[in-house]
Amino acid sequence: MIGIVGASLAGLTVARTLRSLGVTEPITLVGAEPWLPYDRPPLSKEMLTGTDASPAPDPGWSTLLTPGEADGFDWRLGVCATGLSSTPQGPVVHTETGDLAARAVVLATGARARRLPGDDLSGVHSLRTLDDARRLAQDLRGAQDVVVVGAGFIGAEIASTAAAMGRRVTIVERAPDPGAAVLGSRLASWALDLHRRAGVDVLVDVDLDGFHSVDGRVRAVRLADGRAITADVVVVGVGAAAETAWAHGSPIDVDGGFVTDASGATSMPAVWAAGDCARTVDPVTGTAATHQHWSAAIESARTVAHAIAGHPVPAPRTPYVWSEQHGRRIQICGAMPRDADPTVVEGSIDDDAFVAVVGDPDSPDAVVAVDMPRPFTRLRKTMDRRSSAVRV
Ligand SMILES: Cc1cc2nc3c(=O)[nH]c(=O)nc-3n(C[C@H](O)[C@H](O)[C@H](O)COP(=O)(O)OP(=O)(O)OC[C@H]3O[C@@H](n4cnc5c(N)ncnc54)[C@H](O)[C@@H]3O)c2cc1C
Repeated sequence: MIGIVGASLAGLTVARTLRSLGVTEPITLVGAEPWLPYDRPPLSKEMLTGTDASPAPDPGWSTLLTPGEADGFDWRLGVCATGLSSTPQGPVVHTETGDLAARAVVLATGARARRLPGDDLSGVHSLRTLDDARRLAQDLRGAQDVVVVGAGFIGAEIASTAAAMGRRVTIVERAPDPGAAVLGSRLASWALDLHRRAGVDVLVDVDLDGFHSVDGRVRAVRLADGRAITADVVVVGVGAAAETAWAHGSPIDVDGGFVTDASGATSMPAVWAAGDCARTVDPVTGTAATHQHWSAAIESARTVAHAIAGHPVPAPRTPYVWSEQHGRRIQICGAMPRDADPTVVEGSIDDDAFVAVVGDPDSPDAVVAVDMPRPFTRLRKTMDRRSSAVRV
């Protein structure tokens, strides 16, 4: 039996890849949420704007499962794993409802949204799960003033969605140059400008001092410089931390995530980790990193499945992430340096539709595209071919 802890994108991808590799033994997925696997990216996008009757539809709306696929696995949903141990027969997962002994165990428990002191007030939200999205969608419907704390991708997407719903939106961001670590400074300035042109007030280089509330309901956020910003709804989008706390006290190395080698193997025998909870040696740079993005979760899960099935691990792809903000699809492949002066090879930044690269325009080191999926995909394929060649 193979046990998978975490019944979402990475966990399901491990399970279905094992089947596609011909592994027929029983696979059990233990998931803390009561739902079969659903996709998270829509939670900060279209799901928040749901109709009045149904602020966030049934999880089937964004299911990750293909028809009939669920029947091939044993599901223990609404059940939390509480620890791990090693026995001579193999690893054991301890759960709220009993132990699970397996020949191989995969940890795929994702990440949890980081919190801020005092953020347990009514009207203050974070966004990680379908239930979070339902609560936020409900609150957004009656809101006028929305403050988003943090201008990372999820914060930026929520701000964009709330602005499209006609809300007055303010982003409060501690960094002076949000987005620069991912887009490079020049394109990060473009992204800030996109927000401002859509009517979002973006305050950078400001610290949050706390929340002002009346009768337990948030009314404003207080900034360290003394300003107060009116808010009916606040969304805290200050990043996510690998979900490893449940395994505290278990004999496994944790350092900002379950530490793995390039095949996803952890420090415990026959235990692998994949997705947002894993901190994995980057096959290209050799450094340990967490990549909390959709395609990275899929890739690491496929790698783990191949390792468990005894197949050669697939060649790595170049890191990829996308985001949707103010009706624009932003796609990033590779690491755009903060101080990069990218060359625009198609379109124009002024038109909010472009492909910008660093390095060789035909085989770049990094590419950012906005609303240009075709040329982006072509360049991404070239970069993937080069990543595979590095490994070989
Ligand atoms: C709102 C939102 C929008 C996003 N948008 C994008 C995007 O546009 N582009 C992009 O590239 N990426 C995006 N992402 C990131 C992407 O969704 C994640 O990288 C991906 O979901 C990671 O998959 P995972 O399976 O590792 O973790 P998760 O999807 O977090 O799943 C982990 C599962 O494990 C369960 N679990 C946790 N602890 C336990 C336990 N002790 N026992 C049992 N089960 C447990 C959790 O409940 C959860 O269901 C977004 C994420 C969010 C939250």
